[in-house]
Amino acid sequence: FPFGRRLPCDIYWHGVSFHDNNIFSGQVNKFPGMMETVRKITLSRAMRTMQDLFPLEYNFYPRSWILPEELPLFVAEVRVMKDSDPSWKPTFIVKPDGGCQGDGIYLIKDPSDIRLTGSIQSRPAVVQEYICKPLLVDKLKFDIRLYVLLKSLEPLEIYIAKDGLSRFCTEPYQEPTLKNLHQVFMHLTNYSLNIHSENFIHSDSVNTGSKRTFSSILCRLSSRGADVKKLWSDIISLVIKTIIALTPELKVYYQSDIPSGKPGPTCFQILGFDILLMKNLKPMLLEVNANPSMRIEHEQELSPGVFENVPSPVDEEVKVAVIRDTLRLVDPQKKKRKDAQCFVTRTAVTRWHGWHEYHEQAAPVEGGVEGDELWSLPSPPSVILCRRCPRLEHTAESSESLLDALPAERPEPDAPRSPEAGLPSLCLKQVFPKYAKQFSYLRLVDRVAALFIRFLGVKGTTKLGPTGFRTFIRNCKLSNSNFSMAAVDILYIDITRRWNSMGIDHKESGMCLQAFVEAFFCLAQKKYKSLPLHEQVLSLIEFCECHLAALDEKRLLWGWG
Ligand code: ADP
Repeated sequence: FPFGRRLPCDIYWHGVSFHDNNIFSGQVNKFPGMMETVRKITLSRAMRTMQDLFPLEYNFYPRSWILPEELPLFVAEVRVMKDSDPSWKPTFIVKPDGGCQGDGIYLIKDPSDIRLTGSIQSRPAVVQEYICKPLLVDKLKFDIRLYVLLKSLEPLEIYIAKDGLSRFCTEPYQEPTLKNLHQVFMHLTNYSLNIHSENFIHSDSVNTGSKRTFSSILCRLSSRGADVKKLWSDIISLVIKTIIALTPELKVYYQSDIPSGKPGPTCFQILGFDILLMKNLKPMLLEVNANPSMRIEHEQELSPGVFENVPSPVDEEVKVAVIRDTLRLVDPQKKKRKDAQCFVTRTAVTRWHGWHEYHEQAAPVEGGVEGDELWSLPSPPSVILCRRCPRLEHTAESSESLLDALPAERPEPDAPRSPEAGLPSLCLKQVFPKYAKQFSYLRLVDRVAALFIRFLGVKGTTKLGPTGFRTFIRNCKLSNSNFSMAAVDILYIDITRRWNSMGIDHKESGMCLQAFVEAFFCLAQKKYKSLPLHEQVLSLIEFCECHLAALDEKRLLWGWG
C-alpha cells in the first residue's frame, strides 16, 4: 500500500516484522518482538532458563555461552570439563548475534582461540558446543529447515508442516580437526554459502542434489530401518518445547504493543526451525528464524557473473503448501463458516441426542474462551460439539501419542461443498494444544511472566520499575523479618543493574523479564531451600498466585475494581 491503506484488511502480510501500530482489527502475520526473541543471544538465554529448570527435557539445545559477558565462565567451565575428562576434545562454534546465512561464523578448538578483536565487544556472539557427529547422507552433513506456524499465543496454538527442506554441505564431512576447521563447505550447511561451491548441485528432483525435501530423507532413513516415527515424535517435542521457552518474552512484547483493552489485531507467524540430526538420529535445535526465506526460485549462473532466476521445484513443493495452508487456517471466512457449521451441528445433536440432557451433565473445559461453546459431552456420544475452540480438540485428542503426528495424515474432514474441497489435505498439522497435556508442566516461566505483566502497570512498557517490584513483593507477601523491604530494593537494584549493563535494550529503564525471572528464581531458592529448582519455582508461583487470588477476591468484595 504505497499510498496508505483506506480500508481495514482481514489479513496483513508484513515482509519483515510487526511494525504497524495503526492496525486495530484483522490478523497480522508477525508477532511483536518475535525478531528480538529469536535472536541467537535471546534464544540461548531462554533455553538456558529452561535447561536450568528442566535439564533433561531441554537437552536438544547445545550448551551455549554469551560473549563477551560470559567469556570467563566459558573458559572456566571448559577447563573444569577438560580436567574431569582428559579424553574430551571438544570443538566450539562462534556465531555473531543477529547474524544469518553463516555470516561471521567460525569454529574453534579452545576458548583461547576466540577472536578477541574489537568486534566481539561491538558485536556480541554466542559460542556453542559444536555437534561433531551429525547424521550424514551421501557422506555429507545436512540440516533440516522445518516450517512452524504459531497461530496464536493465547491460547497457544502450534502447527508443524509435514515436509521441510534438507540443505546439504558440498564437501564430504570429516570430524573437525585443526586442519579442516576453516572449510565452510564441509561444516556449514547454509544454502547461501554452499551455492558458491563448485560442487553445489541444483536438482529438479526432490530427492537428489544439494537441497532436497525432508520427506525424501525420511524415506531413505526408513528404508535403512531407522525409526522414523520416533524421529518425528522427537521433532514435535523439540518444536513445542522451544516455543514454550519463547512464549514468556513474546507475551511481554504482545501486551506492550496490543494491550488487552485494544480490540486487535491478532497475530500469527510462520517460523523456520533449523534442526541438525545427530548420528544417533537425535534432533538438535540450531536456531529459530523469524523470517524464513519463502523464495521459490534459485539463482543460476548462466555465464561468469550473469545470473538468472529459475524455478526451484523443491522450494515450491514445500513453501507453497506452507503459505497456502497458513492462509487456510487463518482464513476469516472459514471462521464464519465454522460458526455457522457449529450452529448446525449443535442443532442436529440437540435433536438426535437430547442436547439439554447432555448440556446439564457437561462440564466447561477449563480456561476456555468466554462465549464459545465449551462443552464436551460425556459418552455416548464422546464427541465435541464445537471444534472452534482448540482447547476442545485437546480434550478430545490428548490421549493420542505424538507418534500420530506423522506425515501420513488423514485428510481434514472438510464439508463436501466447502470451498476447500478441491484443495489438497492440510500440510500443517496441529501439535498444540493437541498434545498440551504432555507439556503443560513445562510452562512455569509463562506463569512467572504473567506475574511480571500484572505488575508492569503502565500500558506499553516492557520493564518493571522499582515500585512495581515492591508492589509485587508486598501483594504476594514475600517480605518478612528475614527479607526486609530494604533487602528487596537491593535485590532489585543488583539484578536490574547487571542486566542493563549487558546492553540489550537501552530504550527503557527498569527490570526486564529475564531479570525478573532471575530475581524470582532467587526468591524461590531462598524460600524453598531443599527442593530441586523447578519445584522451588513452582512452589513460589503457587504461593504468589494464591495470595493474588485472595487479594482479587477481597477487592471484588470491597468493590475496588
Ligand atoms: P546462521 O543464522 O548464520 O545460519 P546458524 O546457527 O544456523 O547461523 O548456523 C549456521 C550453520 O552452522 C548451520 O546451518 C549448521 O550447519 C552449522 N551449525 C550451527 N551450530 C552448530 C552446532 N552447534 N553444531 C554443528 N553445526 C552447527
